[in-house]
Amino acid sequence: QAKSLGRNMACFFDLEMQERIRQRTQLEKDLGQALGNEELFLVYQYQVDEFGKTIGAEALLRWRHPLRGLVPPSEFIPIAEQQQVIHQIGLWVIETACQTLVAWSQSDMWTTLSLSVNVSPKQFHAPDFVQRVDEILRRTKAPANKLKLEVTESLFMDDHEDIRQRMIALKSLGVTFALDDFGTGYSSFSYLKRLPLDQLKIDQSFVRDVLDNSTSSAIVASTIALAHTLELDVIAEGVENEAQRAWLLENGCHCFQGYLFSIPAPLDQGPETSCA
Ligand code: C2E
Ligand code: MG
Ligand code: MG
Ligand code: MG
Repeated sequence: QAKSLGRNMACFFDLEMQERIRQRTQLEKDLGQALGNEELFLVYQYQVDEFGKTIGAEALLRWRHPLRGLVPPSEFIPIAEQQQVIHQIGLWVIETACQTLVAWSQSDMWTTLSLSVNVSPKQFHAPDFVQRVDEILRRTKAPANKLKLEVTESLFMDDHEDIRQRMIALKSLGVTFALDDFGTGYSSFSYLKRLPLDQLKIDQSFVRDVLDNSTSSAIVASTIALAHTLELDVIAEGVENEAQRAWLLENGCHCFQGYLFSIPAPLDQGPETSCA
């Protein structure tokens, strides 16, 4: 009895596994067409200072799949990375962000805003990455000093020197760098000293329980202190309530990003009709 039940269960899991593999294979195929079919778009989440003034935004990628609806980046970015299509998609994201920066630079209200763009390590490792970014900046005439590239700690795991050279080359174009999800990856203080970073982004997992968990509050407080010592800007992501904001400000963090202030939304729509 138990044995046959076990067998049926195994069979059931097999089918479920098969279905998951089938879905993934389908997504892999569809992702190749997504750019051409104009299914990809950017949403923007604003960043504010301690007075609530908007200081910048982060561009976040969305995929509206014709059958599945919105697919989250946590699901399709890893597929894009495996498929190499990440290079094409990543350059499209940078180019679209640059067009937004141009539009902002032509309006009175938004000229001072910076725009952050996520760059996956795979993209950064492409031999022509620096050259392609340079081309995009020239073509769009975007203000390079407003373009902030968000990289993660995993970028620095191997071949430090090559990465450092590329970062220096990009910085010479005017671009700045934020270290995203700080503290969640392979952390080493040596790269903080060696790499030309401009901003640390405190990961939302620490911000989430900064008031209830002493480890998280210790990590956040030391990250803020570290940023000040190294003369880096620091911003907290995933700020959802006033208590978190107050704690962060009290501890020396003056820039915030999170649902408390802004939900990621397309440019032409208000925050109410967002696709978070
Ligand atoms: P991330 O760069 O750390 O982006 C922050 C994520 O937190 C976003 O999720 C955002 O929607 C979400 N978020 C913002 N405020 C809050 C909040 O108050 N509470 C909570 N719980 N979440 C908040 P999203 O848009 O789903 O993006 C997930 C990740 O996908 C990003 O994490 C980034 O690593 C990656 N990603 C997004 N767009 C791109 C892109 O254009 N290129 C690449 N390579 N990766 C991207
Ligand atoms: Mg980010
Ligand atoms: Mg982040
Ligand atoms: Mg994150």
